[in-house]
Amino acid sequence: MVKHFETRRGVFRAVNGVDVECAPGTITALLGPSGSGKTTLLRLIAGLEEPTCGRVFFDNEDITSLGVQERDLGFVFQGYALFKHMTVAENITFGPRMRKMGIDLDAKVEELLKLTGLTGLGGRYPPQLSGGQKQRVAVARALACNPRLMLLDEPFGALDPLVRKSLRRGLREIVQQVGVTTIIVTHDQEEAWDLADHVVIFNKGVIEQRGTPEEVAREPASPFVMNFVGD
Ligand code: ADP
Repeated sequence: MVKHFETRRGVFRAVNGVDVECAPGTITALLGPSGSGKTTLLRLIAGLEEPTCGRVFFDNEDITSLGVQERDLGFVFQGYALFKHMTVAENITFGPRMRKMGIDLDAKVEELLKLTGLTGLGGRYPPQLSGGQKQRVAVARALACNPRLMLLDEPFGALDPLVRKSLRRGLREIVQQVGVTTIIVTHDQEEAWDLADHVVIFNKGVIEQRGTPEEVAREPASPFVMNFVGD
C-alpha cells in the first residue's frame, strides 16, 4: 500500500510500500512514533483516503473501490467524536438508524451497554460521562452495525493510566466476545503489548518489524521498541 501526498515542498511519502494482514478475530496494533503513517494506513483501510497504489482485501474480496459505508467497518475515532446532543442510546443506534437496518434498536442498545459495562447509562448525554465511559460508548457505537472489522485510532487518548489499563482489559474481552477483527493505532508500546495479538511497527512510512509482542520483544529491530523492552 502506498500513499503519497502532494505538498508545497513536493511529494510526501506518508505510507511507502506497506502490507498488513490481519487474522480473523485478532487484534493487530499499528505501533510507531507520531507521523510514521499509522493513521494514514487506517484511513486507507477505511476508504477515507484513496491509495496512490495498492489494494485493500477483506476475505479475499477486493474492497478498494467500495465507499466507506459499504465496507462494514466500525470506527473509534481519536477523541471519540460522540454526538453531544444525543443520548448514549441514540449515539449507539446512530449507524443502524442511518442504514435503516431494521433491527430491534432497544435490544441492540441493551446488548451493547451490557457488553461495554454501561448498563443503565443509555439515557445519559456524553458530557455527563467520564472519559472512560465515553470511550466505551464509542466502542459500543462502533459495534452497533455488526462490523466485520473494527478500527480504533488512539482510543485511550487523554485518559489517565489506571483507566487506560482497565479499558484495555475491557476492550480485549469485548473483542474476544464479539469475535470482531480489530486494528488499533497507537504510539504507546505498553498498550500495544497489552492488547495486541500481532504488532506492526511503523517508522517513516514503512514497516520496521512485525510479529507477536513476544517475538518483537525477543529480538527488537526498531529503536522505538528497544526503548521499551527492559522498562
Ligand atoms: P501517525 O498516525 O503515525 O502519527 P499519520 O499517518 O497521521 O501518522 O501521518 C503521517 C505523515 O503524513 C505525517 O507527517 C502527516 O503530516 C502526513 N500527512 C497526513 N495526511 C496528510 C495530508 N492530507 N496531506 C499532507 N500530509 C499528510
